[in-house]
Amino acid sequence: MSGDADERCPRCGGSFHCGVDDAAPCPCVALPLSEATLADLRARYDGCLCLGCLRELIAAQGIRPHAPVP
Ligand SMILES: [Zn+2]
Repeated sequence: MSGDADERCPRCGGSFHCGVDDAAPCPCVALPLSEATLADLRARYDGCLCLGCLRELIAAQGIRPHAPVP
């Protein structure tokens, strides 16, 4: 139980490291995930997903990263 890539993405199975326990904020908290997508993630998966999967989900939302959510 050591190393940086200590988590496995439940969506794609790839190993990654979520920085939620680090001093700096994890990039995943800064991503423009909608409330609906977050709720779906919590219902479907146990933990955090890798950045690649989160970006895919954001693209699927049809929300541009820099566009404010209305
Ligand atoms: Zn993933």
